Amino acid sequence: MQWEVVIGLEIHTQLNTNTKIFCGCSTGFGAAPNSHTCPVCLAMPGSLPVLNAEVVHKAILFGLGIHAQLNRESIFARKNYFYPDLPKGYQISQYELPVVGNGEVFIDLPDGSQKRIGITRAHLEEDAGKSLHEGFVGESGIDLNRAGTPLLEIVSEPDLRSSTEAVAYLKKMHALVRYLDISDANMQEGNFRCDANVSVRRPGEPFGTRAEIKNLNSFRFLEKAIEFEIERQIDLIESGGKVVQETRLYDANKNETRSMRSKEEANDYRYFPDPDLLPLILTDTQIDKARAELPELPDAKRQRFVEQYGLSVYDAGVLTASRALADYYESVAARVDPKLAANWVMGDLLGALNKAGLEIEQSPVSSEQLAGLLARIEDDTISGKIAKEVFEILFAEGGTADGIIDAKGLRQITDTGAIEKIIDEILAANPKQLADYRAGKDKLFGFFVGQAMKATQGKANPAQLNDILKRKLEA
Ligand SMILES: [Zn+2]
Repeated sequence: MQWEVVIGLEIHTQLNTNTKIFCGCSTGFGAAPNSHTCPVCLAMPGSLPVLNAEVVHKAILFGLGIHAQLNRESIFARKNYFYPDLPKGYQISQYELPVVGNGEVFIDLPDGSQKRIGITRAHLEEDAGKSLHEGFVGESGIDLNRAGTPLLEIVSEPDLRSSTEAVAYLKKMHALVRYLDISDANMQEGNFRCDANVSVRRPGEPFGTRAEIKNLNSFRFLEKAIEFEIERQIDLIESGGKVVQETRLYDANKNETRSMRSKEEANDYRYFPDPDLLPLILTDTQIDKARAELPELPDAKRQRFVEQYGLSVYDAGVLTASRALADYYESVAARVDPKLAANWVMGDLLGALNKAGLEIEQSPVSSEQLAGLLARIEDDTISGKIAKEVFEILFAEGGTADGIIDAKGLRQITDTGAIEKIIDEILAANPKQLADYRAGKDKLFGFFVGQAMKATQGKANPAQLNDILKRKLEA
């Protein structure tokens, strides 16, 4: 009997505003503990929260980006629980009436098809502080710099049916919030992370009991945690057990999930509207302003790349995976053949960046430098093979393609007379191979090409070399 997997994701993305959601403190990362704090985010008695307008603007941008129903009136609620890094004793969040209602995105599946994933809601909330254990003996420190940092929590419908779909969805959202420039979505710094709700059922039956895996901050961990959880639940049911509703944690070192707390121990948050904050009302002016600022989004850009540059859907998808990569590509494609540009950006450049552990924003070869190199392939100054050498030097040492080509004497030999002379010498030096070739050993052709390339240090124009060689061998 087959099992069907049902997954829904809750993504917590930190909005990249300069100041916190309810006070003017900086959201800067890495400052000395408690230096970015004030009476509001320290929860001093009598202090009152004031909503940051930029946070609302970014939430509207997100809502437009997922074609969502924006709620013209939404409410901030208090989510009550006790935790040392939550000085108020409650977190300000949105509960019954979130700012962003139903929306949707489309994810790409490995077979080339697309699937619609519904988004239930996206709501605003404040982050909590952080407990510090390192450097403390027998006690914990509390850093409240992060308390009050604005978060947007994005909740999907349980529309995902495999770990592959879940990863595709998370990647889509990651790209989207970065395109919209509402979040840096830096997963290492924890400002883009998700919880996965996973259950299994026999096809056609009601949803099974789900387990929630908390705080996954990499695509790979999400995939592995879900895979483990599916196996665990199926094994459990097939051996006569029952899945209990609980919160689980993923341990990357052991590649397993383990129970954190069951539903019985779950917090009762006793939500109620925050009396210190008025309902959030969205005006037409606010929405129009956001609409006017909306950039070209990944799906539209990919479609345009296919039409404008003649790329395959797959290649266009790779090149629009991030806004920075798409901008880089377009800058190169504006100067040289778009397909040549696509091959080099996706091949040599992304390969080298990946190997060096760098993002496109940190590329040591700028789009101008790469375009300068590709222009020399186009005008036959160098072969594609020599270009790879020049690229490596550009990547490691900088400079310009022209400068490297001149300094290293890499200019392609396109002088027919010079190539003929080299071939004549090679034929004279290898009489046995020549005789064998003429006796029918065709594959010796490659041997002669190799010899000629060696003699010219790879600088002979390959097409020209082949022509001349063929003519001489058959003479
Ligand atoms: Zn503050």
